[in-house]
Amino acid sequence: MSDYGKPLEKGQVLVVCAPSGTGKSTLVKMLRAEFPQVGFSISCTTRKPREGEVDGRDYYFLSKKEFIARRDRGEFAEWAQVHDNFYGTPRKPVEDMLMKGTDVLFDIDFQGAVQLQETMPEGLFVFLMPPSYEDLSNRLRSRGSDDEEVIERRLKNARLEMAAAAKFEYWIVNDDLDRAYGELRSVYLAGKTRRCSRPGLLENILSTWD
Ligand code: ADP
Ligand code: 5GP
Repeated sequence: MSDYGKPLEKGQVLVVCAPSGTGKSTLVKMLRAEFPQVGFSISCTTRKPREGEVDGRDYYFLSKKEFIARRDRGEFAEWAQVHDNFYGTPRKPVEDMLMKGTDVLFDIDFQGAVQLQETMPEGLFVFLMPPSYEDLSNRLRSRGSDDEEVIERRLKNARLEMAAAAKFEYWIVNDDLDRAYGELRSVYLAGKTRRCSRPGLLENILSTWD
């Protein structure tokens, strides 16, 4: 059998976005466990590391001054202020991975995802939704990491983000975790068959007629 498709795949961009507390980290973790070959865009942030987080693995932890200097040098593919801290996606590693044919997964906020849609329109942009206000509220509380004021702010933000869900092509409701994960992996796998992910494939096969 010929290896017609093998070297021709182009790395694809997969952006998963969700109101805080929906289950994005949980689902992204599942996807990374099943597809360890997928590259992950490690963001820069000005927030302090949480327990167990490693600089260069989870984030690049920067001072505000350093972050602003890098931003002003145009080093970020997108950046945003999220909950009083700055977050940004370093452009170069993403470009390098895509050039090599590696798919890249982004765990970024709503503002960042909308910015990437401008520069990477061929990306797969997935919006995860909680099944209801009540479920989201319970998940934020059960996580136990935020006080009541922060939870209220997140619930308000969630309402605004949900109202703009039409900016995203793929909608997944995270009600049952396994079902939601099944949909996320289907989006990822289907994306690999898109015409734009397979440059040269048709020409290669057609050349076998010559
Ligand atoms: P996010 O990254 O979107 O802020 P997390 O992945 O931290 O959200 O999930 C928030 C909480 O909801 C966690 O306690 C997680 O275990 C829980 N959770 C995630 N998905 C589901 C689900 N489908 N059903 C019930 N609880 C869930
Ligand atoms: P956390 O501080 O909990 O790790 O992340 C807070 C929020 O910032 C999450 O919604 C996460 O997806 C988002 N985030 C992480 N990295 C980036 C980034 O590089 N750019 C943007 N715009 N958001 C990010």
